[in-house]
Amino acid sequence: MLLKRLTVFLAAISILLSGSWWATHAARDSWISVRSKHLFVVGNAGEKEILQLATRLEQFCDVVSHVFPGAALNERVPTTVIVFKNDDSYRPFKTSENNAGYFQPGQDVNYITLSIESHADQDSINIGFHEFTHLLINTSIGSAPPWFNEGLAEFYSTLDLNNDRKVVIGKPISRHIALLHRNSLIPLRTLFQVDYQSPHYNQGDKQSVFYAETWALMHYLISNRGGQREKQMWKFLDLVKTNVPTEQAFQSAFETTFEGLENAPSLHSARHLSNDRIQPGTETKARNEISDYPGFRS
Ligand SMILES: [Zn+2]
Repeated sequence: MLLKRLTVFLAAISILLSGSWWATHAARDSWISVRSKHLFVVGNAGEKEILQLATRLEQFCDVVSHVFPGAALNERVPTTVIVFKNDDSYRPFKTSENNAGYFQPGQDVNYITLSIESHADQDSINIGFHEFTHLLINTSIGSAPPWFNEGLAEFYSTLDLNNDRKVVIGKPISRHIALLHRNSLIPLRTLFQVDYQSPHYNQGDKQSVFYAETWALMHYLISNRGGQREKQMWKFLDLVKTNVPTEQAFQSAFETTFEGLENAPSLHSARHLSNDRIQPGTETKARNEISDYPGFRS
């Protein structure tokens, strides 16, 4: 979730640090902090969970940041990750009950917040990867349309580091696949024009379908045709960001119409397949092990 309501968020943080909520809860909550290469991680979750999350986020940054060559974490704006021990603890600071986590860019500090409580097939590491993808997008290309921001964040949220130090990206997300089976899809013509005020981005069931569909679309664009579709996607994004009308940009980049891409057999498959038929995408060698990040200090 990417929210632009900076004032609401800062007000919540202000209450956390100085208000009655802090006075009531501080006595029985233990807050600890960890500073890693790119992040300041603070929370009332356990030390083990906070260290694990910090480590995983640094690994994620190491593996994924090459996709965003312009990302310059820390060089201009530091990032703070606030880790709540459970949903009850996180709830007073959510701007929507649907938030599993969120990323808030800022001029002085970027914030990521989340709870370590798991949600269905989504744990705090998945949520952290999702929000960290927003951070990388924000620091490399600035603002991006919701279909791109959420689709890519969901795509990378499943990144898996195996014991043999292989990284698997593009693993299937069961809840999205199940949802896409049960619901009518948003036409691409509409999907690409959804903005941050749209019901598709903000309202319950509509939001769930939007996230599922942008994930499936991103899976298709990155995983098919040997990278050709992904190149077309970046071209499309560049054109849209230079204010070329969406339909014109789409046709120029993908060399087809919205309906033409909707009817592409492999896109149709990506949106309707079962778990066991969506194969994980790329495997790439992790460049660092957990132990390669010695700079943690509490
Ligand atoms: Zn998001």
